[in-house]
Amino acid sequence: MEILINLGYLAAAVLFIFGIKGMTTPKTAVRGNQLSAIGMLVAVVAALLDHNVVRFEFIIIGVLVGGAIGALIAKKVAMTDMPEMVASLNGIGGGASLLVAAANYLESQKLADMGQFTASYDWSLAVILSILIGAVTLTGSFVAVGKLKGKIGDSSKVMLFKAIVKLCFLILIGGAAYFAIVDPLHSDMLVAGLIVVCLILGVSLVMPIGGADMPVVVSLLNSYSGLAGAAAGFVLGNNGLIITGSLVGASGIILTTIMCKAMNRSLTNVLFGGSMAAAAGITKSENDAFYEGKVKFSSADELAMLLDGAQKVVFVPGYGLAVAQAQHATRELASMLEAKGCDVKYAIHPVAGRMPGHMNVLLAEAEVPYDQLVEMDTINPEFSQTDVAIVLGANDVVNPAASKDPASPIFGMPILDVHNAKTVVVVKRGLSPGFAGIPNELFIRDNSLMVSGDAKKVLQETISALKDL
Ligand code: NDP
Repeated sequence: MEILINLGYLAAAVLFIFGIKGMTTPKTAVRGNQLSAIGMLVAVVAALLDHNVVRFEFIIIGVLVGGAIGALIAKKVAMTDMPEMVASLNGIGGGASLLVAAANYLESQKLADMGQFTASYDWSLAVILSILIGAVTLTGSFVAVGKLKGKIGDSSKVMLFKAIVKLCFLILIGGAAYFAIVDPLHSDMLVAGLIVVCLILGVSLVMPIGGADMPVVVSLLNSYSGLAGAAAGFVLGNNGLIITGSLVGASGIILTTIMCKAMNRSLTNVLFGGSMAAAAGITKSENDAFYEGKVKFSSADELAMLLDGAQKVVFVPGYGLAVAQAQHATRELASMLEAKGCDVKYAIHPVAGRMPGHMNVLLAEAEVPYDQLVEMDTINPEFSQTDVAIVLGANDVVNPAASKDPASPIFGMPILDVHNAKTVVVVKRGLSPGFAGIPNELFIRDNSLMVSGDAKKVLQETISALKDL
């Protein structure tokens, strides 16, 4: 039986690895997700066989209630709310690791009193790490949810939170060392105190970070939840949990690094640099003055006429496309152009939107063919042969300042070179800046036109106008 259980964990680990690999391209992402789900089922069955389950009814109730809530939330959640959902799941995962390790700690105390358990260093370390990382992940994730939902604003008390973080770390180092080295089995009050410190630490770590940086924080907390899970795996002696937790921990940190790199920022800058928009320090009047009298406004009718004569069109989706839920209208317009013999592509910037892969998932939802989704490095040389580049609710990822202005907060971030297209049509509601809070020189270039309005509405008007031509 033991061999069978360990083979089960191994099979689950292999399925997870192939699952994650599958998720690296849109074409295989659904399959990757399915493989991972099967892996999780195998791991759960192996875990149930592995441990002496005394009463199955609680587990069955848990599976039914948890599964129903999970399915309902996953079905209902809007694409733009995905970061909130992932953050909530991370928080719950961290909380679960905290509870599992705490329960094991109390159980082990009882066994020790009966002379059936002695605490080893690795057990003590695993218990305390699982409890502490789990607690930080729990509160940190829910602050991230509050920030993503706009319920918690950017804090001006950055220095205060930094001081609290330092104090918490000092207490934790001393407390955790005492627990692990001196007296692991009679430290109830110490453990309770450390949990409170970690709950405060989770809040204080996330509070000073700008709301717009929350996706990076969510990815980092995802990694923490994996580490807490792996530590809980050591506590329980469960190989499946150790492997799964390690995979989540590693992939979370890799994703965090990819996101930081694609924004040309260091993780330290994201975590301790305060709000990026505030750092840019551009006021609304300075922003308006930058554009005054220089933007050429156009209309959906004019866009339709431009497209009618175009041979090659590239759609450039950004965060605003997700806000407007304009993916279906984009696909419809693209199909009309294709039917006229036009070459249509979509330019995908690695950090367009607010989550990695955001644009891929949105466009896949509208059944855009995968081979039309072209990554930045491949599409950039093609812009000079493009008749019309339509920028849909994107801003920072097409801002030439990233390569030209060393003083710009986004300097060094690779961008989509849409300015090289014969005509650039920017569709957005007004002249508000994007995530980085800075003006965009693209909008005042000679070859740029702007159509003001919600992306979906403008696209629908363009489709009607094109039909009437
Ligand atoms: P931006 O945030 O730069 O710009 C989005 C633009 O969309 C805004 O200027 C806004 O202008 C417009 N907009 C908003 N709502 C609508 C709507 N309904 N219809 C039309 N337009 C709309 O988006 P990008 O995608 O260009 O860039 C993403 C930014 O997010 C980058 O700076 C990136 O670094 C950052 N980021 C990305 C992460 C990722 O992993 N993808 C993670 C963390 C940060 P207006 O209000 O005038 O309409």
